[in-house]
Amino acid sequence: MADFDQQELTEFTEAAAAWFKENTPHDVDFMLPLTFMEVGTDQQFNFLRDWQNKVYEAGYLGAHWPKEYGGGGRHRAFQDAATKIMAQERTPIMLNAIGLNWTGPLLIDRGSEDEKQKYIKGILSAETIWCQGFSEPEHGSDLGNAQTRAVKDGDEYIINGSKIWTTQGNYADYMILLARTNPDAENKYKGLSFFLAPMKNSGVETVPIKKLTGEYGFTQTFFTDARIPANCLMGNEGEGWLIAMQTLEYERGARSGQAGGHVMMMADPTDILGLAREAKLNGRPAIEDPAVQEELVALMTEARALGLNSRRDKIQPLAQDRPMSLALGSKLSSTDFYQRLNAFAISLQGTRAAYYVGDDSAHDNGIWQRGYLNSFSATIGGGTSQIQRNIIGEHVLGLPKS
Ligand SMILES: Cc1cc2nc3c(=O)[nH]c(=O)nc-3n(C[C@H](O)[C@H](O)[C@H](O)COP(=O)(O)OP(=O)(O)OC[C@H]3O[C@@H](n4cnc5c(N)ncnc54)[C@H](O)[C@@H]3O)c2cc1C
Repeated sequence: MADFDQQELTEFTEAAAAWFKENTPHDVDFMLPLTFMEVGTDQQFNFLRDWQNKVYEAGYLGAHWPKEYGGGGRHRAFQDAATKIMAQERTPIMLNAIGLNWTGPLLIDRGSEDEKQKYIKGILSAETIWCQGFSEPEHGSDLGNAQTRAVKDGDEYIINGSKIWTTQGNYADYMILLARTNPDAENKYKGLSFFLAPMKNSGVETVPIKKLTGEYGFTQTFFTDARIPANCLMGNEGEGWLIAMQTLEYERGARSGQAGGHVMMMADPTDILGLAREAKLNGRPAIEDPAVQEELVALMTEARALGLNSRRDKIQPLAQDRPMSLALGSKLSSTDFYQRLNAFAISLQGTRAAYYVGDDSAHDNGIWQRGYLNSFSATIGGGTSQIQRNIIGEHVLGLPKS
């Protein structure tokens, strides 16, 4: 038995569908980012910030987060329904993804009352933008060796070091920061601490990094004697690794609690059918080719299976035999799937495959090419697919540590 009023959910869903139909902007005359990792211009940033705020004010973001911190106080099924409609309606993405999906749930699960009161509403309304300072130039997968230093000085910490691939680093007001407070700890993990660090302080500099698409979206972040208040420390000194691992569980899908809203504009697998009808193979529409048909059916089947698995993951009795397996597997398989889907779409385009966004000859203005290049963001960010395989091997299948 569901522990919410089904009739209420039906009414909420109908109201949400009507709201998104009426309010989704379709006349945007500039290129919107496909994901929260590709917000590269002020125009995109300001537009998406306003859009997230509007969705939140309408009650369709954080609908299940506690009311006392700015959420809607409803059952999670309500937010799931709103998020599904956003994806179906292909609305612009939610901007503040690191706040909504990692910082927010972390604060709700283990933040102090002060931290919850201070940060959660701003995350939902997009008034305060969050970034994540985990990876360093020499330490990405090998996160436990992070070397950025935080040294206590009275009622402040002094931060020195550099973080890299900081998504939205140049726009963020705060960073979830993993830094070393004790280089002499008994092991490298115990020397790390976790901070909710302000970004607009002096001593913090961000330098945007261009991606292979030519778009921007992340920065290298430099800390040079940057002073942050000591009460930015989350938990205690030495608990940084524990808290970072909990954060990565939200990021990798192994824990729920995210605010909802879609943060990636994924290609709809059925869009490829139009392309297959239009593209020519040996002078005939590609869709008539048996090998193309076979691949199309395989992709559609896989898309359906991924969708069903993500629903199955939310039904506790169906997921309890191997907790985390579906969620962890889903990041790996869905990011790989979208990469292959885009690659197949490009392969249907023959010589036009070489044209990109902005070329007159590009099919659909190069949407599949852009999707393909951007798909690498998701197979690397949040832990690479190889690392995800290691985690599944060790934590789900119980294989020995590599
Ligand atoms: C678009 C994008 C956005 C990002 N945003 C952020 C962000 O906001 N904040 C942040 O902190 N980081 C961010 N990252 C960084 C991301 O988390 C790292 O790139 C990732 O963890 C890999 O680290 P690395 O780049 O140092 O590669 P490395 O760790 O140097 O890995 C290089 C290669 O070696 C493989 N490898 C490494 N170790 C192992 C192993 N033990 N077993 C098998 N294979 C291994 C990797 O899979 C990879 O193929 C982002 C990355 C991208 C692409």
